[in-house]
Amino acid sequence: MKNIANKLTNEEYEKNFAELHPPLTKNSAVAEANRCLYCYDSPCMKACPTHIDISTFIKKIATDNLLGSAKTIFYSNWVPLTCAKACPVEELCEGACVYVEKGEKPIEIGRLQGFVIENYFNSDLPRLFTQKDKNGKSVGIIGSGPAGLACGAELSLLGYNVKIYESNKVPGGLNTWGIAPYKLRQADSLKEVDFIKSLGVEISTGVRVGKTISIEEIYNIHDAVFIGIGLGDATKLRIPGEELTGVVNALDFIEEVKNEKWSDVNVGKRVAVIGAGNTSIDAVTEAKRLGAEQVYIIYRRGIDDMSAYDFEYEIAKSDEVIFLFETMPKRIIGEKFVEGIECVKVELGERNEKGKREINVVPNSEFILPVDMVIKAVGQNINNNFLNDVEGIKIEKGKVVVDSETYQTGNNKIFAGGDCINGGQEVVNAAYDGKMAAHGIDNFLLEKS
Ligand code: SF4
Repeated sequence: MKNIANKLTNEEYEKNFAELHPPLTKNSAVAEANRCLYCYDSPCMKACPTHIDISTFIKKIATDNLLGSAKTIFYSNWVPLTCAKACPVEELCEGACVYVEKGEKPIEIGRLQGFVIENYFNSDLPRLFTQKDKNGKSVGIIGSGPAGLACGAELSLLGYNVKIYESNKVPGGLNTWGIAPYKLRQADSLKEVDFIKSLGVEISTGVRVGKTISIEEIYNIHDAVFIGIGLGDATKLRIPGEELTGVVNALDFIEEVKNEKWSDVNVGKRVAVIGAGNTSIDAVTEAKRLGAEQVYIIYRRGIDDMSAYDFEYEIAKSDEVIFLFETMPKRIIGEKFVEGIECVKVELGERNEKGKREINVVPNSEFILPVDMVIKAVGQNINNNFLNDVEGIKIEKGKVVVDSETYQTGNNKIFAGGDCINGGQEVVNAAYDGKMAAHGIDNFLLEKS
């Protein structure tokens, strides 16, 4: 990079990356739990994709039954600490809380869940569930992200031998590597991984399917296979200058930051992030918190079209991010290093039947934004190299096709879940998929035997 932002002091980094929602104390958790109305129809529970029995786990906090509360949560969700900290609760459980309708502050469900699970992880992990006797069958899981972990935990309790194959040296997938540290610290994700391992799930790291081991080998070793590989390859901008030094993929950047060796991460003085999704907001706010002086979001559509949530938009605004809506990048400028980005203004037409608005370039509206770094955050594609040759597996519109109830692919021994089947949703959706796929696998193997 031509101009690197000045490094901050350790204290400044710690302050900038401090947790957005620090854990509740016991007293504050009990007080918050006592505010819950224990609604008979629990709209909060319906709004949670994993359908955690929220009013029950909150009631157990109020009666000082914290282990029982943890058990209620794990019963529905195997990665509840990540979900407590990284879920868009305003859009899900807390958004559905009856207090919202009354115009009052909703129950802090996410923080209560975080309190219960942290309390459990800080104990000596007493057994909460009875594991079925081993049935002699094994399942291979590809990917140790939330879908893979949830699938593994559920299958292990059902009596299967479970082995997860993870390409990274450190397991946890997106939970460990892809969420901004002020939302979720890496250590929290790793506590969850350790807990899943304590249930008997084996995780083999540094194993790249298609390179270190073939999919055929995994297929032949195990009675069933679950694919929870998420999404891999970043979508290209397809504009000149994309190869210049200083152009990076958002997830690679976030992964570097996630190591928490903040002073080692070089960030430009002026940074442009292309795209306006959740990952874009994480990347742009992280760039700012690492010391970038000016940070921009460049987005070709309007504020209403952003896939980033309202609360993320607010975080970005409070980090002084400059949003350039209805603006399209045309080329990245520089000889070797990024020196600027040429953009053009657009006008948006009427929405089509898919809700997308036509984009019309405004003639002669080009302008150059001087920047030192461009972060690409316009989506990801499935990295399906090793899936191409597997008989029966179909990939449509960049997603692995599965049966919506059983999570079985066209190859009846292979199941899939998480981002690779939904194109990229929340951690909580992947956790649900993994758990449900485990039951799909269980039913399939029971029928076979
Ligand atoms: Fe408690 Fe709100 Fe859920 Fe009602 S909707 S049970 S008040 S958290």
